[in-house]
Amino acid sequence: SRTIHWYRDDLRVEDNPGLIAACEHAEAPGDVVGLYVLDEHTPGIRPLGGAAKWWLHHALESLHKDLQQLGIPLLIRAGDPQRILLELAEASGADRVHWSRRYGGPERELDAAIKADLPDKGVTVESFAATMLEEPWKLQTTTGGPYKVFTPFWKALSARDIAMPEPAPAPLGDISNATARLTGSGIELGSLEGLDLLPRSPNWAKGWHEIWDPTESGGHQQLRTFIDDDADRYHSHGQEPAAEATSRLSPFLRFGQISPHQVWEAAGSIKDSQSKTRFRTELGWRDFAWHLLYHFPQIPDVNMRSEFDNYPWKSAQEDPDTFQAWTAGLTGFGLVDAGMRELWGTGHMHNRVRMVTASLLVKNLGIDWREGEAWFWDTLVDADAASNPVNWQWVAGSGADAAPYFRIFNPERQQDRFDPDMRYVRTWVPEYGTEKYPDPLVDLKETRRNALADYDTITGKN
Ligand code: FAD
Repeated sequence: SRTIHWYRDDLRVEDNPGLIAACEHAEAPGDVVGLYVLDEHTPGIRPLGGAAKWWLHHALESLHKDLQQLGIPLLIRAGDPQRILLELAEASGADRVHWSRRYGGPERELDAAIKADLPDKGVTVESFAATMLEEPWKLQTTTGGPYKVFTPFWKALSARDIAMPEPAPAPLGDISNATARLTGSGIELGSLEGLDLLPRSPNWAKGWHEIWDPTESGGHQQLRTFIDDDADRYHSHGQEPAAEATSRLSPFLRFGQISPHQVWEAAGSIKDSQSKTRFRTELGWRDFAWHLLYHFPQIPDVNMRSEFDNYPWKSAQEDPDTFQAWTAGLTGFGLVDAGMRELWGTGHMHNRVRMVTASLLVKNLGIDWREGEAWFWDTLVDADAASNPVNWQWVAGSGADAAPYFRIFNPERQQDRFDPDMRYVRTWVPEYGTEKYPDPLVDLKETRRNALADYDTITGKN
């Protein structure tokens, strides 16, 4: 018997139930084969942005090595997953396909089609829960529907028994035997280079290896360092972008190099109880975003509150100079510019700063949240199809559980409060406070007034 484990957002060997189950069916090296398919083919599945592709390249490179240790080859392909799986199952004589479930609309449709198709060809398909703390359909309100508000969702989630993580499966044997069996059947391994995931010129990711170790072991190292050195400051300093008191685990979670169960369990040893609760609550936000996307698959494109369809947001094309100033970190607001430059320079941005940069774009600069979401999608290493639009809609006010509209972040006050000694702003905007630094792009008070008036219009108060 041979099992193909189709890797998607679970690029790890530890705590991977589909891989573990595949190894339980196996007797010899080559009985389990890993497969990754770069899918820019299926309609509706959003192609990854540039920064995420950089991450993916290195994640696959390291997964390949980790799987080799277990005697499991990793095949790399690009194209239509349904066709590729079918051909591969036939050529390799595989009788099982495993995968970890995913929760976006078009992804689920594709998976359901494959699940319906392969058994006719004699291949058993089994899917596993691996990337969320809890399956999105398992949490329901008392009246039976999905949650739209975080607090009751979190109450329900945190009351459940969160599954404990499992170790990697035992090695099946020598990788050269496994590979020889495949190539002997005329199956090519495929090359990572063929996916063309890395930036060429300009290479904007130069130096990113000094910031990130995008491997499974790098994720564990990062988790340990956070728990041992920083997690007890999470409650007191987690909101300060210069304090380095957050985990920076988001890209590892995004690509499944670390599982939320592993993070949840490790968080059990955070001594400061407020930090422990707060950190676990943030993991809960990740599940909440996917719960929403599962039940409302239109979230990346459509306002959750339909009255916002009439909000007079501008597109980036209608005001290219303003949008460009925002992306380049040249708005004249220190905290915003620091955040946008951190994003470009590292593929990451602190959560507080994400909220402030997003708020300035949609509420003061009057540009549609979907434009900002698309920029983040392309530049964040952790960009994901649920967290990104859900958080953008939260900031924009159009989300199901959005911030009250009148609570418009004031970037200057946010800077005074969360970066009082300007350590963060000066790191990313060295010319801050000099003549070279631009004047503020807009008047905060006036644009705030306009945003509130527009809101009153769409909600019928005007
Ligand atoms: P920590 O504070 O250490 O939190 C631990 C983990 O909890 C994170 O790694 C993340 O997986 C999860 N988490 C924390 N906050 C949130 C949140 N608000 N929503 C969902 N999950 C959360 N997060 C993404 O993973 N991908 C995105 O594309 C994304 N886009 C965002 C866009 C905007 C406009 C905003 C305001 C937030 C966005 N976030 C996104 C959420 C959050 O900013 C990041 O998860 C967080 O900054 C990652 O840093 P960290 O790992 O140090 O977080």
